[in-house]
Amino acid sequence: MVNKATIYDELGVSRVINAAGTKTRIGGSLIRPEAVEAMSRAAESFVRLSDLQVRASELISEVTGAEAGYVGSGAAACMTLAAAAAIAGNDLGAMSRLPNTEGIPDEIVMPRTHRNGYDHAFRAAGARIVDVGNNDNYLGTGANSTELWEIANAITEDTVAVGYMQKVYSTPLLEEVVEIAHEHDVPVIVDAAAEVPPRENLSTFIDAGADMVVFSGGKAIRGPQTTGILAGKHEYIRSAALQHLDMHVAESVWEPPTELFDKADLDGVPRQGIGRSLKVGKEEIVGLIAALQSFIEEDQDTLNKEWESRLDIIDNELANLVGVTTRREPGGKLMVAPETYVEIDPETATLDTIELVGSLRKENPRIFVGSDDLLEGGFTINPMCLTDEETEYVTKRIRSYLE
Ligand SMILES: *Cc1c(COP(=O)(O)O)cnc(C)c1O
Repeated sequence: MVNKATIYDELGVSRVINAAGTKTRIGGSLIRPEAVEAMSRAAESFVRLSDLQVRASELISEVTGAEAGYVGSGAAACMTLAAAAAIAGNDLGAMSRLPNTEGIPDEIVMPRTHRNGYDHAFRAAGARIVDVGNNDNYLGTGANSTELWEIANAITEDTVAVGYMQKVYSTPLLEEVVEIAHEHDVPVIVDAAAEVPPRENLSTFIDAGADMVVFSGGKAIRGPQTTGILAGKHEYIRSAALQHLDMHVAESVWEPPTELFDKADLDGVPRQGIGRSLKVGKEEIVGLIAALQSFIEEDQDTLNKEWESRLDIIDNELANLVGVTTRREPGGKLMVAPETYVEIDPETATLDTIELVGSLRKENPRIFVGSDDLLEGGFTINPMCLTDEETEYVTKRIRSYLE
């Protein structure tokens, strides 16, 4: 693969060898071949997208335990749909006005330490984020960053949901936040975009009582990059569908599938909603269905062994270089896959970490290694998106700078 010309070479665009893991900016993950094949077959004929969403909903419901599911154009898009559902509910007028929320409740309460760049997706629907708590946990005094009473205290008549970013270190615990939110009759939206594997997490947050949970379809599930999963209560999936599906319909013959929503309950046909600009095609929905099916059947142990053996190659080849130390970081907690952490001692090595990582990126093909730890003088190699051949190539290129 390293020497074979790719479509990107043909287009005159530098390809990337990905030793960094599933990062959207360098293409996310590679779609599973089964999903690519399914997408190509999906491209051969037409289908009513609402019918296809019903089929996706069945599968999402089966694997997550949620009442229903929906496919959006990414986890971030699903966050926008979730916020839109929480704000507009069944109100066609509100749906047509979003993101303008004048005169209607629009606040999403979030623990402050859960705030992150992706919450712009909530705000895109018109939500205003009210964050509570602070960073006390990081003072090392034993104090909590967010107390449950602070969440309760922030919930008012203007609150439409509590937002929760799920990571293994997230506090307060989701169960406790759900309890407080439900006591105040507001739903909890969980951003769990990157929290699978483990596969069991597909149902963990629904089990904990979350009303809406989003996952990325284009990370470890390895569906199309432009897919995300929204799993949750029927009432919210219904509202999300009403605000996402194309609504330029002829009312007299419009018969949307009742599994999504019942036309009889509506005052009329909704306008194109806030979700219309987040559309997904039939190919993406079919690709996501195929990928999700493979993901739940995949043998995680075999995959882990493959990943470990790739890292063994790297560890062996880099360990004897002057000024270089390597350390294996196990997967499963903060990270999906195990990684090799490579530390470079600028005093004794031929160049420092930033020069090395920068130079690798300028090569053709570009090589991307994990850059979260640059300031500490290290970088990481993640085996998830590498083939064996690419692993050897990456090792060889790194060695070439450090020998
Ligand atoms: C990746 C990620 C997203 C966005 O997912 P997309 O599928 O790329 O839209 C949102 N939240 C978190 C925490 C993520 O890691």
